[in-house]
Amino acid sequence: MKLLCDHMLGSLAKWLRIFGFDTIYPDSTTDDEAVLRIAKNEKRLLISRDKELIQRAKKARISVLGVKTTNLIEQLSQVLTTIPINEKNILTRCTLCNTPLLSVEKKNIKEHIPEKVFKTRNEFWLCSVCHKYYWMGTHYENMMEKINKLLHGPS
Ligand SMILES: [Zn+2]
Repeated sequence: MKLLCDHMLGSLAKWLRIFGFDTIYPDSTTDDEAVLRIAKNEKRLLISRDKELIQRAKKARISVLGVKTTNLIEQLSQVLTTIPINEKNILTRCTLCNTPLLSVEKKNIKEHIPEKVFKTRNEFWLCSVCHKYYWMGTHYENMMEKINKLLHGPS
């Protein structure tokens, strides 16, 4: 399912991309009218904290998920309860531009990766648009741990 986060949900959009969801995040210059039009035309689930926008989406028969909290972890767990993560899709999309990532061979990219990361990680991905490299860092692992706790209870 393709997603569209409203402009107040930038961090949420970034993490949804990390989890592999095709997620559009319009900036604050995109008005509500345009946001609703994109959601409708591209059949995206609108994720919003804006009550008025949610009401308008419902009237226009656009699928909408209203989030109530400003806490990122709680937002993520609410979204992921509605649309489950497909583990195969994790880290397949650029967090900056939403482009699908390419898997790259470790031996070819040594000069682009911090030494410590290069020593400890084996899988790397590249965004061909932003030229940004990705790997499963500790930041990502910490987040997964928090999400798993929320979704499955403390282990
Ligand atoms: Zn990118």
